Amino acid sequence: MKDINWNDYSLETQAIRAGHQRTHEDEHSIPIFATSSYVFKSAEEAALRFTGKKPGNIYSRFTNPTVNAFQERLALMEKGERCLAFSSGMAAIMAVGMGLLKAGDHVVCSRGVFGNTVLMFQNYFGKFGVETDFVDLIDAAAWEAAIKPNTRFLFLETPSNPLIEIADISVLADIAHKHNCLLIVDNCFCTPVLQKPLELGADIVVHSATKYIDGQGRCVGGAVVASDEIIEKHIYPYLRTGGATMSPFNAWVFLSGLETLAVRMKAHCDSAFELARWLEQQSGIAKVHYPGLPSHAQHELAKRQQSHFGGVVSFELSGGKEHAWKLIDATALLSITANLGDVKTTITHPATTTHGRLAPEARAAAGIKDGLVRISVGLENLEDIKKDILRGL
Ligand SMILES: *Cc1c(COP(=O)(O)O)cnc(C)c1O
Repeated sequence: MKDINWNDYSLETQAIRAGHQRTHEDEHSIPIFATSSYVFKSAEEAALRFTGKKPGNIYSRFTNPTVNAFQERLALMEKGERCLAFSSGMAAIMAVGMGLLKAGDHVVCSRGVFGNTVLMFQNYFGKFGVETDFVDLIDAAAWEAAIKPNTRFLFLETPSNPLIEIADISVLADIAHKHNCLLIVDNCFCTPVLQKPLELGADIVVHSATKYIDGQGRCVGGAVVASDEIIEKHIYPYLRTGGATMSPFNAWVFLSGLETLAVRMKAHCDSAFELARWLEQQSGIAKVHYPGLPSHAQHELAKRQQSHFGGVVSFELSGGKEHAWKLIDATALLSITANLGDVKTTITHPATTTHGRLAPEARAAAGIKDGLVRISVGLENLEDIKKDILRGL
């Protein structure tokens, strides 16, 4: 292939073409390298590769050409120097903690993060002497006040789930760096198509590729994107030893997911925006949470920080849990599932599913009311989606 500097190309082009090292077979599509190990030409070459003095594959726990292609492509799209793929989004978050933290360290995390992320910090890193404090995502002063001399990093998701609140990444990056901490952003909801946290000052991006990157609900996977130094020093050694590796087949599915990510994200966002405006007009709905609406508290920030407003809408029914459940149960087309980022529209009741394990007071503090319904807007015809919601309104 001709020598191309992919940094000169736009995200849409990188997403389709970057990362493929064409083999002697001249294949047009990236092959799946279903091999666990690789052979060396001599004992000396084996020794050189093992010590890292000569580049090349050794074993698929830590390098595989199909997985490498996915990593290279996502790194370019996120404007990061390097990406490592993992077996799931949680494995990626685990890797960041295992790579960066030691007993006695402290983490500040936003309160609204993915439930298993909370459990990871509280129960697992906590078990090994890492303390985590949770703060309000949009309260920059609270973030700064929570930082201690032993704080290693700040961790957040923006937009949050399920209330779609938005944090100012640049402001939090400045706060983190002022106190010698790293800023880690879970960019699962936006993907690099809508928001590039590393360009805004974040140090590490983590992904659940399971959501929009796959986009069709097939595979579970994750990724960490950061500087060469962070990956080489802290994340790669953990992947090589810890072994939460992405399979070549899954990497191949995610590679084709990336190829259509930009068009899918725009379509998800367009439909979600129109649905949010339409929901605001319906009776029985007390509030619609969507950053594209001028009624959203961080509407201006969302306009600045994101290229589009996202594919997830949530709304509160005035009739509380009873009406929320009635609306969900009356749907015929939508999938009742907590998953998101799929071409299929999904509908869920956060208070009794994703956030059901929280104590009622904690749920109230997080603003997750019993009447709240969350929709991850898919790519079906929007009129059909509206019709389905109307059945139970
Ligand atoms: C789903 C999700 C995760 C976890 O990813 P898995 O691939 O399911 O392990 C992490 N963060 C966010 C924001 C998610 O939505």
